[in-house]
Amino acid sequence: MTDFTYSVDADGVATITWDVKAKSMNVMSTDAFALLSELIDQALADAGVKGVILTSGKKDFAGGMDLNVIAQMRAGGAKAIFDGVMTMHTVLRKIERAGMDPKTLKGGKPIVAALPGTALGIGLELPLSCHRIIAADNPKAKIGLPEIMVGIFPGAGGTTRLVRKMGAMMAAPFLLEGKLSDPKSAKAAGLIDEVVAPGDLLARAKDWVLSAKEADLVKPWDAKGYKLPGGAPYHPAGFMTFVGASAMVMGKTMGVYPAAKALLAAVYEGALVPFDTALKIEARHFTSVLMNPSSTAMIRSLFINKEALEKGANRPKVADQSVKKLGVIGAGMMGAGIAYVSANAGIEVVLIDSTQEAADRGKAHSEGLLDKGIQRRKVTAEKKAEVLARITATTDYAALSGCDLIVEAVFEDPKVKAEVTAKVEAAVGTDCIFATNTSTLPISGLAKASQRPANFIGIHFFSPVDKMALVEIIRGKETNDTAVAKALDFVRQIRKTPIVVNDARFFYANRCIIPYINEGIRMVAEGVEPALIENAAKLVGMPLGPLQLVDETSIDLGVKIAKATKAAMGDAYPDGAVDAVLFWMADQGRMGKKANAGFYAYDATGKREGLWDGLAAQYPVADTQPDLTTVQHRLLMAQVLEAVRALEDGVLTDIREGDVGAILGWGFAPWSGGPFGWLDIIGAARAVEVCDHLTATQGDRFTTPQMLRDMAATGRGFYPAAGAAQAA
Ligand code: NAD
Repeated sequence: MTDFTYSVDADGVATITWDVKAKSMNVMSTDAFALLSELIDQALADAGVKGVILTSGKKDFAGGMDLNVIAQMRAGGAKAIFDGVMTMHTVLRKIERAGMDPKTLKGGKPIVAALPGTALGIGLELPLSCHRIIAADNPKAKIGLPEIMVGIFPGAGGTTRLVRKMGAMMAAPFLLEGKLSDPKSAKAAGLIDEVVAPGDLLARAKDWVLSAKEADLVKPWDAKGYKLPGGAPYHPAGFMTFVGASAMVMGKTMGVYPAAKALLAAVYEGALVPFDTALKIEARHFTSVLMNPSSTAMIRSLFINKEALEKGANRPKVADQSVKKLGVIGAGMMGAGIAYVSANAGIEVVLIDSTQEAADRGKAHSEGLLDKGIQRRKVTAEKKAEVLARITATTDYAALSGCDLIVEAVFEDPKVKAEVTAKVEAAVGTDCIFATNTSTLPISGLAKASQRPANFIGIHFFSPVDKMALVEIIRGKETNDTAVAKALDFVRQIRKTPIVVNDARFFYANRCIIPYINEGIRMVAEGVEPALIENAAKLVGMPLGPLQLVDETSIDLGVKIAKATKAAMGDAYPDGAVDAVLFWMADQGRMGKKANAGFYAYDATGKREGLWDGLAAQYPVADTQPDLTTVQHRLLMAQVLEAVRALEDGVLTDIREGDVGAILGWGFAPWSGGPFGWLDIIGAARAVEVCDHLTATQGDRFTTPQMLRDMAATGRGFYPAAGAAQAA
C-alpha cells in the first residue's frame, strides 16, 4: 500500500503525499485510510516533526471515496457501515486535534492541506479536518461535496464540519445541492482559507506550518463559547433557517430522496449537541442512507453506469472514429443546437439550410448562447470568436466535402429527409457516416433513401440540445459497427451520455414518454382531478406531471404523433380515449406552453399560473377519486412496462442504458435509479401483483410481461444483489 508517502525535510516539516499509482485521480480506500492514520501517528509522535503538509502527487487532490469501499461497507450491513464511518471520524478527529491537550488546547502540531487542484467528497472532508486549507489558483479545479447528486451525503464529517464552519444557511448550497466551486469562489464562500499561485503552493504551506500559533490550530467548535454561525435551531435566526431549509428541501425533492431528508436531520440534530456527538449522529444518518436501496440505485445509474456508457461500454471494437468535420443539415431548433455543442467541443461544422437567412439564424443561436456565457463569466470573447469561426453557415452542399459525419435535422417528413440524403451523399465521400435526428421515423425506412445504408444511423438529440445530457443512438437494420462507433465517439467529443438502441417505433425514450403522457390524459377523460394526476407524478419523483409535460412538448405535436401512430397501427390502435381529449384541446387552440394555453393557464409572459379551470366544463371531475398510490402506479407502470417490453423486444440490449437513458432523457424518478432500478426496489413479485391488478381494473395495456413473471418465480432482480453489483 503506497497511496500515501511520507517524508520529513531539514526544517522538520513532514509532507504526506497522496498518489494512488494505479489511477489518474486519487480516490480513498479503506487501506489507504489506515495508512494515512499511521502516518499521522508517526508525525505526531516524532519530536523532530514540527507540523505536516497533506498534499497530492497528482495535478488534483482527490475525486472522492472509492465507491467499492461503500459497496463493501454495505455488504456487511448497518453495523459494519456505522463502525467503518466511526473509524474514519476517529482518524479525521485525530488530525483535527493533532496531539493537543483536549483541556488546555495546547501542544498540537499544525496540519495544513495543500490542494493543487480538484478536491471532491472525502477529498474535501479530509482537508476540512486540517487546520488550514490552501489551494493552488487553478481555475479548472472543482472544490466541493457532490455526494447528494448520487443519493448519499457527506458522511465523513463534511456535513458536521461545514455547518459548524459556515452556518446552516451558508452551507446549504454545498451540502444540499452539491455545489462545486473553483478555488477563488471556494475561498470567497469560506469553504477554504487561502488561494496561492500554483508554483507557491508547497512553500506557502510550509511557511504556514512554521509560523502557526497554538490558537491557529483550535477549531472554533473546540474553543470555549462556540456558537453556530447564523444561530442554532432554537435561536430565533437559526429557527428561521431550519424551518426554511426543511420547506425548501421538501418543495424541491417532494420527500422522495432519502439522502436529503437524512442530511437535514443530521444537521438539525447535530447542531443541538457537542461536536463529537454530532459526528455520531451524522454517522447514524449516513448509515441509514447507505442501507436505503435508493442510494445503491442512484450511485449505480448516475455514477458507475453513466460513466461506463460514456467510456464506451457498448462501443464496437473498431479504430478511433473521432469526428473532424461535421455537416449539420437543417438549422432549425435542433440543428442549430447540434452545431453549437459540436463547435464548442472543437469540431469544424458546416451548417446548411435551404436559405442563407435560415442558416445564419441557426448560427446566431450559437452566438446567443455564447453571449449568455460571457454575461455569466463562463465564456471569454476569444472563446466566442473561436467557436463561431468553426461554424460555416451556408446553403451550398459542396461545402460538405471532407465531412466525416452528417447529422440531418430537417423537417420530420420522410420525403424531405430522402431528398436531403441524396443531396448529401452526392457531396461527401463514401466513408462519411450519415445520421438522422428524427424523433419518430424508423431509421431502417429512412435508410432506403441512402446509397450506403450501412453508413446510415440515428443520432437522436433531446431539446434543448445544449442542456440535455442524453443522446440516443439508433442502429438501423443495416447499420454497421463503424457507424455506431462514429456516433459514440461523436457523443464522447461533445461530452454527452450515449445509449445505443435498436430500431423500432419511437426508439426507446419516446416509446416510454408517450404512454406516460397518455396515461395522464386518459385519467382526465375519466374525471380524475388534474391536480391529483400532476401531484401524484411529482410525489413519486417525476420532474413534470404528464399534463405539464405535454404542454411543454406541445399539444399539436401530440396530435401529429397520435395520427401517425393510428395510421400505422390501424384497428390495433389503443389510445382513442386519449385522442378525444388531445384533439379537443387542439380544437380549443390550447396548443400548450408555446401558445400560452394548454392543460395549464399561463400569463402574458408565458409564466405557468396553475391548471386551466376550463377543462372541467368538458371533462368534469368525478365524485369518487382514485387513491394516490393507484394514480402513481398507473403513471409509473405506463413507462416502466414499456421499458421492459423494449428489453424483451431487443430494442434495449442493456438495462444500464435503459436506466441511465430514462433518468437523463425524461427525468424518470432519479431516486429509483431508473425503471429497472425501480422494479428491483419494489421486487418482481410486487410488480406482478401491481400489473395484474391494473390489468384487471384498467385494461390490457398493463399486461404483465413474461420477463417479470419469470423473475418473480425465481426471485431474481434485473441487477445482481446490492453488494455484488457495486463491487462488479
Ligand atoms: P425546425 O422546424 O425547427 O427546423 C427544421 C429546419 O430544417 C428548418 O430550419 C428548415 O428550414 C430546415 N429545412 C427544411 N427542409 C430543408 C431542406 N430540404 N434542406 C435544408 N434545410 C431544410 O425543426 P426541429 O425541431 O429542429 O426538428 C428537426 C428534426 O429533429 C426533426 O426530424 C425532428 O423530429 C427532430 N427532433 C426534434 C426534437 C424537438 O424537440 N424539436 C427533438 C428531437 C428530434
